[in-house]
Amino acid sequence: MRFALLMPAAGSGVRLGAGTPKALLEMAGVPMFVWAVRSFVAFADCVEAVIAAPPDSVNAFQERVGKFFPKTNVQVVSGGSTRQQSVSLALRELRTDCEAVAIHDAARPLVSFELIQRVLDGLTDDVAAVVPGIPVADTLKRIGGRPPSIVATIDRQDLLAIQTPQVVRREIGVEAHRMAEETQFAATDDVALIEHFDLGETRVVEGDPRNFKITTQEDLDRARVLLERR
Ligand code: C5P
Repeated sequence: MRFALLMPAAGSGVRLGAGTPKALLEMAGVPMFVWAVRSFVAFADCVEAVIAAPPDSVNAFQERVGKFFPKTNVQVVSGGSTRQQSVSLALRELRTDCEAVAIHDAARPLVSFELIQRVLDGLTDDVAAVVPGIPVADTLKRIGGRPPSIVATIDRQDLLAIQTPQVVRREIGVEAHRMAEETQFAATDDVALIEHFDLGETRVVEGDPRNFKITTQEDLDRARVLLERR
């Protein structure tokens, strides 16, 4: 199945306190976003990659793409003010005919070939989208008021923490983003749009705890150690 990588990479990384966009931070000598792009474009069926960069850093991303992917169909587009907008803008720029899109956060450079393959394999004919999920290890509580007090304890038995890559049938992804724009519906992942507009069956496959999202300095330090060992 031919697919394209769509990579939201337009976050500023304010929580990391770096002056540089998070996805450009060097990890074992390579910019963060390059790690994950490499893992996807290694698949023969990955026909294209579109990276949504912060609007004022498009040139900086393009320069890295020229250096690390001189012969691959990778383009950089200007991202939006939310992750959802960045994905929507990248989706519009696809140049190649493909059946599906794999949406993957630049902030998850440790994605493995096995995980990408598992999510792709989950997209059987009857399925609109597939996401990887991992069990929640901590106890979850709903809080309210100020100072916060506990309102309820949530049964974590049937809860999963959802990661990327999320693989979506292209035409369903386009329709989901079109409807979201029309109705101003916002969500923190793309598959939530498909669920909300009831556009088809969405499935979960086993995620990978090593595919964590880099949010804090501690995450960055941990990921750097793991990537240096590769
Ligand atoms: O902010 P968060 O960590 O949830 O971002 C997840 C991914 O979405 C990151 O790779 C980030 O670069 C991207 N993003 C984006 N456009 C935004 C905000 C975040 O592409 N406006």
